[in-house]
Amino acid sequence: MRAKIRLYVEHPLGPGQSVPLSREQAHYLFGVMRLAVGGAVALFNGRDGEWLAEIAEAGKRGGRLACVQQTAPLQMPPDLWLLFAPIKKARTDFIVEKAAEMGAARIVPVQTEFTNSDRIRQDRLQAHAIEAAEQCGGTYVPEVAALTRLNRLLEQWPEERRLMFCDEALAGPAGDLAAAPGGPWAILIGPEGGFSEVERARLRGFANAHAVSLGPRILRADTAAVAALTLWQQALGDWR
Ligand code: SAH
Repeated sequence: MRAKIRLYVEHPLGPGQSVPLSREQAHYLFGVMRLAVGGAVALFNGRDGEWLAEIAEAGKRGGRLACVQQTAPLQMPPDLWLLFAPIKKARTDFIVEKAAEMGAARIVPVQTEFTNSDRIRQDRLQAHAIEAAEQCGGTYVPEVAALTRLNRLLEQWPEERRLMFCDEALAGPAGDLAAAPGGPWAILIGPEGGFSEVERARLRGFANAHAVSLGPRILRADTAAVAALTLWQQALGDWR
C-alpha cells in the first residue's frame, strides 16, 4: 500500500492510532481526490514523523483513518528562524511557503520602520506553511509567529542566537558564512523600502549580528529570503 496524498493532521499518530477527519479534510479526500474506504493516505503532524494510514470510514462530513506504520521519522530542520518584513499579500505568502520548503524552523514577521503593512493574517500564513510541508515531504511544520516590532525582538534577543543581517547597503560580492559559527541562527530580510539608517546603525552595532551581502544586485524581499536561506543552509545548515 502506497499513499499518493500527504495530509497534515493535528491528532497524535502512532501504532493503531485512529485519526478523525475534519469536514474539510473529508471533503478533500473523498469529494475532491475520490478516495474510498481502504485507500491509503500519508499523515504527519509535525511531531510523530510520517505515517501510512488506511481510510477506515468515509463520509460526506467526516471520516476516520487508521495508522498502519511509520514511514519516516520526524526530521527537524536546523535551528534557523526567518525574520522578514511583510510585503504585499502574494509575496508574503511566497516567503512563508519558501521558508517552510527551505527548512526554516520558525517564521517571524517583523515590523520595521518602512514595513508596508501593520497587520498579517497569522492563521492564513500558518496554513501556507502547512501546505508547503505537505507538498515537499516535510515532517515538520514551522510555526508562523505573530507580527513583532524589530526593536522589541532585538531587546529580547536570545543571547546565543546569531543574526544574519541581510543589508542591501552591502550589495556587492556575496557574504561568506563558511567561517561563521554554527548553533542557533536567524536571518533578517527587510521590506521593499529597505532598512532605515537608524535600524542599520542599531543592527550593525548588535553583538550577535553578522551583516551580509546577497550579491551585487538589489533583490526583492521575496527573492532575498530564498537567496539568504540557500546561503545559510549551504554554509551552516542541513545541505552540507
Ligand atoms: N529599497 C531598498 C531595497 C530593499 S530590498 C533599496 O533600494 O536599497 C529588500 C530586502 O532584501 C533588503 O532590506 C535586504 O534585507 C534584502 N536584500 C536585497 N538585496 C540585497 C543584497 N544585495 N544584499 C543584502 N541584502 C539584500
